[in-house]
Amino acid sequence: MKKLQLLLLVAFTVGFTAQAQYKLPQLNYSYADLEPYIDSTTMYIHYNNHHAAYTNNLNAALSKYPELFKKDLVEIFRHFEEIPADIQTAVRNNGGGYYYHVLFWELLTPSSKSKMTPVVEKALIANFGSIDSFKTEFEKAAATRFGSGWAWLIKDAGGKLKIVSTPNQDNPLMSFAEAKGKPVLAIDVWEHAYYLKYQSKRVDYTKAFWHVVNWQKVEELLK
Ligand code: MN
Repeated sequence: MKKLQLLLLVAFTVGFTAQAQYKLPQLNYSYADLEPYIDSTTMYIHYNNHHAAYTNNLNAALSKYPELFKKDLVEIFRHFEEIPADIQTAVRNNGGGYYYHVLFWELLTPSSKSKMTPVVEKALIANFGSIDSFKTEFEKAAATRFGSGWAWLIKDAGGKLKIVSTPNQDNPLMSFAEAKGKPVLAIDVWEHAYYLKYQSKRVDYTKAFWHVVNWQKVEELLK
């Protein structure tokens, strides 16, 4: 009887945990669809190796405290200090990495579909004066992020659009972020995102990025 109870408990725990694990999202395009701006090999490795590693490492960290699988990742970021100290670094790096790659894939689209919408255009002009000054400021944030990290367009609590950058896998939703806000657009400036094609020319990669931005998604995030 005891054996059966133990077996049921194990089955329940494994079943519950398995159901709640984070998974790689489905991409809305194939690895080659962002060519020639983002090459197929980079996309393949970025998704299958880097994003997969963040996903596995996040699951491993949260498995120590399975109740955390029930919490929304954004809520975890917003109340970061509340999660157990022994998994904070792992969740900061891999939770950040998991969440923002999911978003990054959605913010990309084949160049044939990349067209700025009137709503986004109006919002960018209202906040930055012109599309050119928005792009220049965003490219500057991407270029000047020392080492690995991300550049962001965020919407702050007052509804104002701002350009910021964060190191490593930190993001503007995390409780300790210098500039907080809701991500609207993001570019990954880790070398793994561009080095195969652009080598040290991060600026060229950032300029190529404009050809494959999913402006429909940006409009959705602006709301
Ligand atoms: Mn990346």
